Amino acid sequence: MSWQSEIDAFEIFPWNRNFETGLEDIDEQHRVLVNILNRLAWHFASSNSERDGLHLLDELLAYASYHFKYEEGAWAESLGKSEMARNHHDSHQMFFARIQMFRQSKAPEEDVLAELFDFLTRWLAFHILESDRRMALTIKAMKAGKNMEEAREQVDSELSGSVSVLVTALLEIYGKLSVSTIQLMREKMARHKAEDELQRLQSERLTRALEDQASDHQKQVEFLAYADPLTGLWNRNGITRFIRELLDGDNLENDSAALISIDLDNFHEINARFGVETADRMLGLLARRWLDALPPDAALARIGGDEFALLLPDASQVEIRLAALQLTGRQPFDLGAGSALVSFTAGIVLFPDNELEHVDEDADMLLRQADHILFRAKQELKGNWLFPNAGEKKADRSRQRLLLDIRKGLEYGQFRLLYQPKVSLRTGEVKGVEALIRWQHPDLGFLSPDGFLPAIEHHPLMVEVGEWVLFEALTQMRAWDSQGIHMDISLNVAAIQLQASGFAEGLRDNLARFPDLDPARLDLEILESATLGELDKVVSIIDECRQLGVTFSLDDFGTGYSSLSYLKQLPVQTLKIDREFVSGVDDTEENYSILRGIIGLSQVFGRELMAEGVETIEQGEVLLSLGCEFAQGYGVSPPIAPEKLANWLARWKPFPQWAVNSTPPQ
Ligand code: C2E
Ligand code: CA
Ligand code: CA
Repeated sequence: MSWQSEIDAFEIFPWNRNFETGLEDIDEQHRVLVNILNRLAWHFASSNSERDGLHLLDELLAYASYHFKYEEGAWAESLGKSEMARNHHDSHQMFFARIQMFRQSKAPEEDVLAELFDFLTRWLAFHILESDRRMALTIKAMKAGKNMEEAREQVDSELSGSVSVLVTALLEIYGKLSVSTIQLMREKMARHKAEDELQRLQSERLTRALEDQASDHQKQVEFLAYADPLTGLWNRNGITRFIRELLDGDNLENDSAALISIDLDNFHEINARFGVETADRMLGLLARRWLDALPPDAALARIGGDEFALLLPDASQVEIRLAALQLTGRQPFDLGAGSALVSFTAGIVLFPDNELEHVDEDADMLLRQADHILFRAKQELKGNWLFPNAGEKKADRSRQRLLLDIRKGLEYGQFRLLYQPKVSLRTGEVKGVEALIRWQHPDLGFLSPDGFLPAIEHHPLMVEVGEWVLFEALTQMRAWDSQGIHMDISLNVAAIQLQASGFAEGLRDNLARFPDLDPARLDLEILESATLGELDKVVSIIDECRQLGVTFSLDDFGTGYSSLSYLKQLPVQTLKIDREFVSGVDDTEENYSILRGIIGLSQVFGRELMAEGVETIEQGEVLLSLGCEFAQGYGVSPPIAPEKLANWLARWKPFPQWAVNSTPPQ
């Protein structure tokens, strides 16, 4: 509802029948003037800024001026240039002069306004009731045949006595009224403002309430992110949060909590028998029963399909609680079309392991471990539960510890590269060296890669290790260059590293840091297994790297199971014959045949050959006789520290038998 219309009804100058002069045009114009005055008053009463009320005052003046001219015209027509007409004109001029005075007044605004409206009201009332009425009556009398003198006398007597008392009273009332009306208007306006403010406050409160509601809704949305809508249990995120909270807590005793991975044994049968919808309903019923059987500090989640995870902060309760859960499933579920029993198998992990740092014992890892135990439990003792055996637990923990140690090893610079020369058995020419990683472990001593790389083979940490190797090898190449030893270097690149996003870019960036080194001096050895599965992707990575100038070798050639057509597509320059085929070659005829076959294969592919693991003079002789000229192995040199390379180079000479017995390759 608009309160403005109410205010409009509150007029400073209420129109009154007595204001009518009987001249229609004039009356109409008076109404307009009164209307403008009322609007002006309303405006000043309601507005805080008087300035924008001035245009209304101008409107009043403009209309008044128009009206006065009109009147004077009417006078002149009927009365000519009479004294009465002149007086009338003078009073109009007076009006404008007064208004100008108000405008320029320096008195306080409030007072000026009160006076202005008092004046306007009185003046307008007088103008209408006195002057104009007098004029109108005179004109009427003259129109009725009287001369001006007679007409004026008649009007004088008409406007005397009670009429003149009435006019004076009206003027007085309107003058007073105007001031108090403005006051009233202001009060009313203030009340409206207060009401507005109240309404604003109320609507603010309403808004706040709505916001609160929205945040409740947000909480609900959040809850959904952690809940399983089907059963109302937690989902994987939900239970992860609880596990984290538990791990973050202080003073948790070793193995004091349990995480249990649960899988229903016969859910697919229930699904098949009753249909998905009913089976889902059964999961909901089961969840209710299980929650009833669990203590309040337990957290139960549905991880997927018919898999659940249960967190028990008190590990001593595992047996009792699982037995209780198992019991609930032995009471038939009434599923309408029939009833069903449920049993489950579970895998359990206890935590925390206080020897591990918390960062490494995270919720995901624990869930994976529990899954792992569950997997074994399903094979061994369906319908029951399994704790990890001591061996499994130990293996898992030592792997965790190893990861942590490797990370530290990288940080503290505990890794080294040894370099094993690759040579021509026939001429003795040194083709380059293969970088092989070692770990100077603070407690365990000098470790071979077999002792630690398998643990991180599929872990992102392997990428970090590989990056370290690349940078270290390039640094070494430059160092040797500065000593006048120009050595090509081969690196072993793990599958996860090669396929990690941005491998080629990383390689390019690294090479850019060594602009003095020709990228063609770098060879990347990859395992056949690194390329299995995603041949297209790997081929494109290799191509990208080859465009940088580096070369590729296929490591451990012969040990993989790939088809020949598959191998043919790999854009590698060199095949490295695994030492498995070299080591036994001088023992049996069979081994010899295999080696001959492998070498023949490489020749079909038109790739270069490099044999690994040449330990004896005989092995070298056989390789040469079969057409494999290049090799590495203990027979030539074990992997050596970089500072020993110069010394080795100075003394290296191939065995004379190799030079004699060899048939140069075709
Ligand atoms: P690999 O690439 O086949 O490397 C050759 C391995 O054979 C090396 O073992 C080397 O020391 C050993 N070897 C060389 N000559 C002989 C020999 O005459 N007889 C015998 N019995 N062995 C010989 P190492 O250095 O222990 O490396 C083992 C594996 O670890 C390597 O096999 C390679 O696959 C991996 N590796 C080594 N360094 C790195 C590395 O920096 N990055 C990656 N991703 N893997 C590496
Ligand atoms: Ca290698
Ligand atoms: Ca190898």
